[in-house]
Amino acid sequence: MTTKSMQVASEFDQQHLWHPYASLPPTYSNIVIDRAEGIYIITEDGTRLIDGMSSWWASVHGYNHPKLNDALTQQLGKMAHVMFGGLTHQPAIDLGKKLLDIVPAGLDAIFYADSGSIAVEVALKMALQYQVAAERPNKQQFASTHSGYYGDTWHAMSVCDPINGMHSLYGKQLPMQHFVPAPPLGFDRVLTVDDRETLAQFFAEYGAQLAGFIIEPIIQGAGGMRFYSPEYLQLLRQLCDEHNVLLIADEIATGFGRSGKLFACEHAGISPDIMTIGKALTGGYMTFAATLCTRHIADTIHNSDYPALMHGPTFMGNPLACAVACASIDLILSYDIETRTANMQRTMEQALTSAAQLAGVAEVRCLGAVAVIELDDAVDMPIFQSLLIDHGIWVRPFGKLVYIMPPYIITDYELTTLCQALLKVVRKYLEYRG
Ligand SMILES: *Cc1c(COP(=O)(O)O)cnc(C)c1O
Repeated sequence: MTTKSMQVASEFDQQHLWHPYASLPPTYSNIVIDRAEGIYIITEDGTRLIDGMSSWWASVHGYNHPKLNDALTQQLGKMAHVMFGGLTHQPAIDLGKKLLDIVPAGLDAIFYADSGSIAVEVALKMALQYQVAAERPNKQQFASTHSGYYGDTWHAMSVCDPINGMHSLYGKQLPMQHFVPAPPLGFDRVLTVDDRETLAQFFAEYGAQLAGFIIEPIIQGAGGMRFYSPEYLQLLRQLCDEHNVLLIADEIATGFGRSGKLFACEHAGISPDIMTIGKALTGGYMTFAATLCTRHIADTIHNSDYPALMHGPTFMGNPLACAVACASIDLILSYDIETRTANMQRTMEQALTSAAQLAGVAEVRCLGAVAVIELDDAVDMPIFQSLLIDHGIWVRPFGKLVYIMPPYIITDYELTTLCQALLKVVRKYLEYRG
């Protein structure tokens, strides 16, 4: 494409295509991307940007990966899709087996969904159907913590952070849920008596009404990029058990190694009753997600007056998505993921800690393959974005949070390059802002 046709492409985009959480037309233009390979996103004019985002936690093996391409091409030759109602196929079965081998113990039944938000909707419906089936009809509501993010559909939205989520906009139309304070910050934090009491009192007061408690284990992602302690998750597990509340772990962002363990629940040595996965499930190739639950939940629903789980997306169990997910899981298992993410954490810590000294930076924190530079004030995106492009990296801050979660295939040298470039951008941006 010439520069002229690029301009035309971007003009059409600006006038007709909505982008995530954006106005139409947008306040500043989107960058036209031509292709991507390995850790690089390549613009139409050939500029190569190191990808710091894994396309929102998803493209963990980088782009255009030969093994993932192969898996898709091979499946494509057989069938791209076939309905899952009344039919099944080998890719769905293979993926199911692979998943049950690696997820936290006890999870045994799988519902394939078409996106993360839908997996969360299914988790909530599953929890409600279970409580009705278990003859606890008063358990109709859900609880979460502040600073959570679970997706953009109606009920997923209702459990997102009630302040910085979308409640102010859709407020009264959202179902009422219950919220406890955000988990106290810090992976290494030892819970205080107060921390414990807050949670225990909440369960004492509301436990009887709750069908489930949903939480992102260890890393709260889009709601604030906050890390919290495994001890909190253990306490939550215990309180859920005491009050017959299902613990729903949303591992859509944290799953498949991002937190430093294959699943973040492993940090706490707990198993949830229901778990959602998505994003990296297909290595960023296809929109796909899943909701898993224990045999006990599946059996309880099965043995009730309404034995069917009432959900069934058109593209449920899509064979292409299942096939590429199988290949992605094989790759992850070939990595020695804990060592790899521990190395990434160390490299990012070494390269980024000096940012904490800058005026305008509140905190730098890393966990697993995630690093966050929290600024004092929200980023001015057009300025920040053009600095990023000038320095050859792709990072997408939101609010005060500048964060990276690079693909696992990045080398130590490339990761250092990414971090050093990011450090320069943050420094220049803060100098410019004064
Ligand atoms: C991204 C995300 C979702 C929503 O997934 P979509 O595929 O965007 O619908 C849900 N929960 C968490 C924790 C997420 O990070």
